[in-house]
Amino acid sequence: MRLMLLGAPGVGKGSQAVLLAKALSVPHISTGDIFRCHIVNNTELGKEAQKYMDKGMLVPDELTVSIVASRLKQDDCQDGFILDGFPRTINQAVFLDKVLDELKMQLDMIINIVLDDRSIINRLSGRRICAKCGAVYHIEDKAPANEGICDLCKGELIQREDDNEETIVRRLKVYHEMTKPLIDNYKGRVKMVDVESNKSFEVTTQKVFSAVGLKSAKVEA
Ligand SMILES: [Zn+2]
Repeated sequence: MRLMLLGAPGVGKGSQAVLLAKALSVPHISTGDIFRCHIVNNTELGKEAQKYMDKGMLVPDELTVSIVASRLKQDDCQDGFILDGFPRTINQAVFLDKVLDELKMQLDMIINIVLDDRSIINRLSGRRICAKCGAVYHIEDKAPANEGICDLCKGELIQREDDNEETIVRRLKVYHEMTKPLIDNYKGRVKMVDVESNKSFEVTTQKVFSAVGLKSAKVEA
């Protein structure tokens, strides 16, 4: 099954993608991971991407798509894959269409994980992370026993810089502006399923699994 997962920052898209990939036994393809892999292995594409990153510039769409294309050509992608957070722009989507055409592949479904902006802002702005062990808390939904202190290791809980309200609002605005044309690009061509993530993470997993025809979301961790 060839899937694409869409979702704003804070909806838990990445974690859902990991579980779904495991359940379907297909690779989970996130551009961040592939970039890191190319850079670590010092490939030509990796070197090219690094040049832009060193200058603090965005990697051009064409290069990003080449990197994804090289990944999609690998053996383990022939029976399916999950694209996570890619394409990000309409430009990337158009390139991706070409690549998939060349590979004689078609997307089977797009899963759009949705949550209203207010809930996303609450979720992200209340998030606290242990500076020592990385455990994740939420001031309302998953508060530590002692305020500001990690239950697990007694480390200090901090708020990530990205998680302040002003930054979140800006990130959401950018996300919506970029995603609207993406959705339009696939409308009527690829089956699209909206999954509400307004309940718990587990409930969302269950909905994502049923969207692809899997019965149970019980996956070995
Ligand atoms: Zn901790």
